[in-house]
Amino acid sequence: MKQWMKNVREVEPYVPGEQPQVRDVTKLNTNENPYPPAPGVLAAISAVDEDRLRRYPDPDCRGLIRALADYYHVGEDQVFVGVGSDDVLATAFMTFFNGNDPILFPDISYAFYEVWAEMMRIPFRKILLGEDFRLKAEDYVQPNGGIVFPNPNAPTSILEPVSFVEKIAAANPGSVVIADEAYIDFGGESALPLIQKYDNLLVTQTFSKSRALAGMRIGFAIGDPALISAMMAVRNSYNSYTMNQTALDAGIAAIEDDEYFRGRLADIMDTRADAVKRLGALGFSGPDPMANFLFVQHESVPAVKIFEALRARHIYVRYFAKPRIDNYLRITIGTPAQMERLYTALEEILKENR
Ligand code: PMP
Repeated sequence: MKQWMKNVREVEPYVPGEQPQVRDVTKLNTNENPYPPAPGVLAAISAVDEDRLRRYPDPDCRGLIRALADYYHVGEDQVFVGVGSDDVLATAFMTFFNGNDPILFPDISYAFYEVWAEMMRIPFRKILLGEDFRLKAEDYVQPNGGIVFPNPNAPTSILEPVSFVEKIAAANPGSVVIADEAYIDFGGESALPLIQKYDNLLVTQTFSKSRALAGMRIGFAIGDPALISAMMAVRNSYNSYTMNQTALDAGIAAIEDDEYFRGRLADIMDTRADAVKRLGALGFSGPDPMANFLFVQHESVPAVKIFEALRARHIYVRYFAKPRIDNYLRITIGTPAQMERLYTALEEILKENR
């Protein structure tokens, strides 16, 4: 062991889904949008010139914050933007989760919460989901240093109603409650209106899924001005320029084309409804999906077997070798053509395993 190693922060990093290096993969493993971003986004990116690269970006991210504030009918002082919602969530953890009581999040949930908590030395308690994978508001009424949950939840795709978020925000005025709405645009009702009533509620969203900009890295949080300025102060204490100017402009262009946004969302939700039927006919079942992915198990063939057989056919889905969910596959909704490839492959695999 090298002598300096005693002072290294020990971490167990988050493992993202695989980004294949080969071309012909049907990629249904990281909940990306299968459609391109709005046409105006490419135009905004093409406008890059030398000055853009030479200069620092706007540290206050004003253009994008204004666009988001207008779109969601909130004040500019109620919006925080970051490098994907991972950056926004990590900043929120650093800013708000400094108490001695454990922060609370579901046991089956976005795996990054535990990674951040471990990395930042934040005590945490995982709340067991019911057998039906539902979150129960009453579980989040106990001493805590903060609360975070995805809604819809990942990897289950289950949406809880706004009343669920309200119960938790109302019961915990002494802690910050983060509703991670990475997948809310796929048919869910956002808790955003509640931020006007609950000054401890922070809602985070992302451009990575519904706005097809995972590669650009844009996320945001909306909440009480005091929450936002606390996050800004923390961000400005480690990096004033998290967002590059091209990402800021791309984000504005994505927000401006609402018709395109709604059109692609409708396409994905149609494909999702079809996928539930088609997979059901093949013997798969799972919770009612409210995100851009399905969480399914097969009536007879183990998930890991299907996962590997799909991978051998260059179709990537996500498999988690974790207690309670190790017989499930998380399948991102692709284009209708990609989904046909999946159904055909599944038919073959199931035949081979009969
Ligand atoms: N929250 C949840 C629940 C997610 O699944 C993801 C995607 N990995 C994120 C946040 C972060 O997404 P991004 O950083 O791309 O905005």
